[in-house]
Amino acid sequence: MVVDPPKADIKGLVTVNPTASGGPELGTGEDTSATASGCCGSWDQVRRCLRANLLVLLTVVAVVTGVGLGLGVSAAGGTVNLAAFAFPGELLLRLLKMIILPLVVCSLIGGAASLDPSALGRVGAWALLFFLVTTILASALGVGLALVLQPGTAVSTAVNSSVDATGVPNAPTKEVLDSFLDLLRNIFPSSLVSATFRSYATSYEHIGINATAWKPPVGCAQRNINATTVQLGCEVEGMNILGLVVFAIIFGVALRKLGPDGELLICFFNSFNDATMVLVSWIMWYAPVGILFLVASQILEMEDVGQLFIDLGKYILCCLLGHAIHGLLVLPLLYFVFTRKNPYPFLWGIMTPLATAFGTSSSSATLPLMMKCVEENNGVAKHISRFILPIGATVNMDGAALFQCVAAVFIAQRNGLPLDFVKIITILVTATASSVGAAGIPAGGVLTLAIILEAVSLPVKDISLILAVDWLVDRSCTVLNVEGDAFGAGLLQNYVDRTKLQNSEPELIQVKSEVPLNPLPATIEEGNPLLKQYRGPAGDATSCEKESVM
Ligand code: ASP
Repeated sequence: MVVDPPKADIKGLVTVNPTASGGPELGTGEDTSATASGCCGSWDQVRRCLRANLLVLLTVVAVVTGVGLGLGVSAAGGTVNLAAFAFPGELLLRLLKMIILPLVVCSLIGGAASLDPSALGRVGAWALLFFLVTTILASALGVGLALVLQPGTAVSTAVNSSVDATGVPNAPTKEVLDSFLDLLRNIFPSSLVSATFRSYATSYEHIGINATAWKPPVGCAQRNINATTVQLGCEVEGMNILGLVVFAIIFGVALRKLGPDGELLICFFNSFNDATMVLVSWIMWYAPVGILFLVASQILEMEDVGQLFIDLGKYILCCLLGHAIHGLLVLPLLYFVFTRKNPYPFLWGIMTPLATAFGTSSSSATLPLMMKCVEENNGVAKHISRFILPIGATVNMDGAALFQCVAAVFIAQRNGLPLDFVKIITILVTATASSVGAAGIPAGGVLTLAIILEAVSLPVKDISLILAVDWLVDRSCTVLNVEGDAFGAGLLQNYVDRTKLQNSEPELIQVKSEVPLNPLPATIEEGNPLLKQYRGPAGDATSCEKESVM
């Protein structure tokens, strides 16, 4: 494989090479000059431009074709086997979900092990601050837009009754305290194995008058609330990604503490991670097909899209407008202010994962493609992207916070309940906090919306209204969620570069050897920042490196 010249050279070491691994194979980072310059003077340039952006173009075309196909097939009437029609999309989701576990665990262990503890603390704190500030901004934008556009005043009574009929009015609602305790419980899973496919959740059950005969489901802890209601603490289906993220970071730090004794295991996780990324680069080529059918089948499944738009159009508009303002103006502006670089080429570089987020409605499922694109198209170093993006995909949900705020104000307006200043601040704070607890899965944010509604005493049963249009709002919400993570990684890269320049010492990559080293292929250097520490005095590679070289 042809390796591009390295971007930076620290003490004779190749460090960052955005297009070095897999760029040409993917067709996304092949000719970044063509990509960035807008290109296209002669036919030759047009061809180079198209080739450089082939995957992005295919993905965007897939979204548009999916909408057209879905509308066309549903307008044509007739019967379609929905399971078969949705199958190519389902396959993409399965492939992406398959990759999440090894990717998150290996990248975070490798990432945490490659940073020295003080740099880890600084980088982690910086990233969390960025995530927090952008989420608060998104929440404020959501509340502001909903107060100005008043989406809740335009809902027809027809939609109220029809949706309420399918709602969950009688289910006891989850206490705010229980939601936060569940969050903490999931941060510390009792079993790592079960964390890979289950999370802890508290629920309530009406046991009626047969209280003595009632038995809790196997494995659930039971607490009596009153004579007719019990509280259940159960492990439910769904990966506990928060617990895995926290464990992987702490485990990576522990491995680093072992010094040379931990080297072998770090090599193992780095190799595992690199192999996983190769799988991702293959899956990327299937993404346009999967996205096309995901979007088309979703449209086909909707019974009366037109009516929904008439009934809840203002709410949808409010959410989409908020997502667009935050994603196209606020985040790019923050990026520009801190980096003094044009943010839109950065956005173009992550167009494929953004389209994937739109198609899959899942931040977690988008994570593999996002890692690949920020590294190869936007020049974010692997040890930064692989540390920050899994954390961002788990805790940073600007889109969710924004739509939850719109939804809360919308429900208050719909019920004629005034919102005073304290309630608005409560919505802002709880939306920011509950978006952290939202899982990066379809409708993850709607599930935690109940926390906000409870906190300001709004009717939780109205969530059924929000659910009716969540298939659409969730898509733009997920796009914004993952975009925020990517900009966080880009800003962090800029911060690291600046610190490096000021200190003329790398902040994150610990280079211990002063001896000039034999150059290794850039892909290997880039993938395993820690390996640089363990060379012999003559620059000999360790056994792990030798294997990599071969
Ligand atoms: N679907 C969103 C995501 O995966 C979560 C949400 O529903 O807000 O990021």
